Amino acid sequence: MWERGCSLTAAGRALVLAESGGADRGTAGDLPLGRRDAILLSLHESWFGERLRCSVTCPSCQGRLETEVSTVDLRVPAGTGGPVTAAGVELDVRPVSTADLLAAADRRALLVRCVRSARKGERAVPPSELPEEALDAVAAALPDLDPQADVSLGMSCASCEHEWGAPFDIAGYLWAVLDAHARRLLYEIHELATAYGWTEREVLSVGPARRRFYLEAART
Ligand SMILES: [Zn+2]
Repeated sequence: MWERGCSLTAAGRALVLAESGGADRGTAGDLPLGRRDAILLSLHESWFGERLRCSVTCPSCQGRLETEVSTVDLRVPAGTGGPVTAAGVELDVRPVSTADLLAAADRRALLVRCVRSARKGERAVPPSELPEEALDAVAAALPDLDPQADVSLGMSCASCEHEWGAPFDIAGYLWAVLDAHARRLLYEIHELATAYGWTEREVLSVGPARRRFYLEAART
């Protein structure tokens, strides 16, 4: 999974993770980001537990803050979309999906994909005629239409007392944890293979506790 994700963009990696978390291969890309992220929170719980350690930069004094948060506190209802009215246009909007992120060439294309239907009075408005003002309103409404896709951490800086909401991206976070885990494992394989002449398969067939012992023994 790590190898598959290495060559992908952030959205592609999120998709690989969601599929590992049980999302259906054919349709995982169509899940709203909030439902996808709920799967990724569960995946973090089953692989690494409920606690997440985050390092955040204070936007006011640039100091580094360490904070710990529980996956339980990051869970909010996933949305299914809803109505948005702007510039005289009534729109029915659905949440953004991973497939949208992968397919849309720019911001306008992304927002247009999320419009299920648009009407001005009795007339249906085609995507190409949607005014910028209406799409700005769609962009502004998306966090409320899919709250799980727009989670932030309530931060308070001990140095300068600045308080703010730091956006939290479970997909990027989980990938970073998995990446560190995979690289650590590869270094262990490298060290044990070099020390004992074992193959990769042979190293991996040794359980974690015995692997730790052999690593320590090889280092002394
Ligand atoms: Zn600060």
